[in-house]
Amino acid sequence: MVPISCVICIRVFMLLIDLIKEATTFGSAACSEGNHEWLFEGGRGCPKGYEDCSQTVYRCTVCGEYDYGYAGGAAWDECFIKCTLEFNV
Ligand SMILES: [Zn+2]
Ligand SMILES: [Zn+2]
Repeated sequence: MVPISCVICIRVFMLLIDLIKEATTFGSAACSEGNHEWLFEGGRGCPKGYEDCSQTVYRCTVCGEYDYGYAGGAAWDECFIKCTLEFNV
């Protein structure tokens, strides 16, 4: 015989699991559409090889994916604009 308080605990726990699942699904849905929540994490050399240009490294706070500076990504846009302005390419 399981005490009644334990049954309530399990119910609450299950509810929390459902909420976490929903939040994760929501986050990954946005991420899969390319709407990452980028957060500044560091810097790297310019992918175009310009010595005086550095590209920001972003990491998604939702799915943990890194922005490696690929075309269309947050860092690429930033670096592309900067390179275009400063190096006239
Ligand atoms: Zn993401
Ligand atoms: Zn650059």
